Amino acid sequence: MRPEFKVSQTALSDTISVSCNICGSVKSHIRSTVDRYGLPVNSVICKECGLIYLNPMMTQNAYWRFYASGEYRKLLNAFKKPVTPDESYSQSVDFGIRIAKVIGPFLHDGLTVEVGSSRGGILHGLKKAKDTIIPLGVEPSIEEAEYAIAKGIPTQKTIIEELSDSVNDVKNILSVRSLNHMVDPTRFLDYTKKHLSDDGRLFIIVLDFMKFCLRNKAFISQIDHPYMFFPDTLRQLVEKCGFKINLCEVRGAYIYLYAQRACESKIRVRKKTRSYALTRIFLSELALRPEFDTHRHFLGPQ
Ligand SMILES: [Zn+2]
Repeated sequence: MRPEFKVSQTALSDTISVSCNICGSVKSHIRSTVDRYGLPVNSVICKECGLIYLNPMMTQNAYWRFYASGEYRKLLNAFKKPVTPDESYSQSVDFGIRIAKVIGPFLHDGLTVEVGSSRGGILHGLKKAKDTIIPLGVEPSIEEAEYAIAKGIPTQKTIIEELSDSVNDVKNILSVRSLNHMVDPTRFLDYTKKHLSDDGRLFIIVLDFMKFCLRNKAFISQIDHPYMFFPDTLRQLVEKCGFKINLCEVRGAYIYLYAQRACESKIRVRKKTRSYALTRIFLSELALRPEFDTHRHFLGPQ
C-alpha cells in the first residue's frame, strides 16, 4: 500500500510554466499527471526536440525549501532504505572508483570540480583511482560540505552560479547524478563554460530515463527529477550549449558523457530532430506492453 505523504502545498503550488530547456519551444504534450510518490506532477514531452520535463515546474526557491525542510528526505525514505551519512559516503566512494574506470582515461591532471558534490565521496573515489587530480567540491548543503571537508575533500559551500571567479582554469568539471535534479541545466552548462579552461573537460553522468522506464516497465516520473534525459536529448542539450561530445554511452543505469568546448561557429541548434520521433516511438511501444501501469509504485534506484 502506498504510504501517505504530507508534502507542503506551498512548495507544490510555487510553480512556473517553463519552455523547453533545449530548444525553447512551448509546444509539448502531457505524458503523465502523477509522479511515483503520488504527487500531482505533469510530465511533458517537447514536440520539437523530444525533451521530457516537468511542466509546470517548482521554482528554484520552492525546490530549495523542499530539500532543506526535510520533506524530500521523508519522501525518499519511504522508497529507499534510509542510509547513514557514513554509509552514503562509502557508497559514493565506491561509485567514484567505478566511474573512474570509464572516465579516468579522459580526465586531465589538475583542478577537478564536482558540482553538487554532496559529502565528497565521488571525488574521493576518483582521487583514489587517479591521484593526479586536485579535487574541489561545490555543494550548497552546509552539513554535507562540512562532512566532505572533514574527509579531506576541499568543498565550497555554494552553487555553481555563485562560485567565486577565482575558481577558473578548471581542468575537469563533473556533474554526477545531479543534472536531472536541476531546474535549469542550460544555465548550469553556461556557468561550466565560464569556469573551464580552454581545453577543459566536462563530464556528465546521469540516469538514463529510457533504461529506467524499460527496467520498471512504466513511465515513472518523480518530483525531484525536473528533467528526464535520453542519450539523444542529453547530446542535444550539451551541443546546444557549445560543447563537442567525445563520448556518450550508456553503462548500467547511467548515461556517461564527456565533452569539450566546441568552436563557436560549430555550435548546433537542432530542431525538429529525430529525437521527438524516437521519444514518441519508444513511449508508444512502452504503453503497448501488457504490464504497463503508469501509476505503479516501486522501489527506484535513487
Ligand atoms: Zn525542445
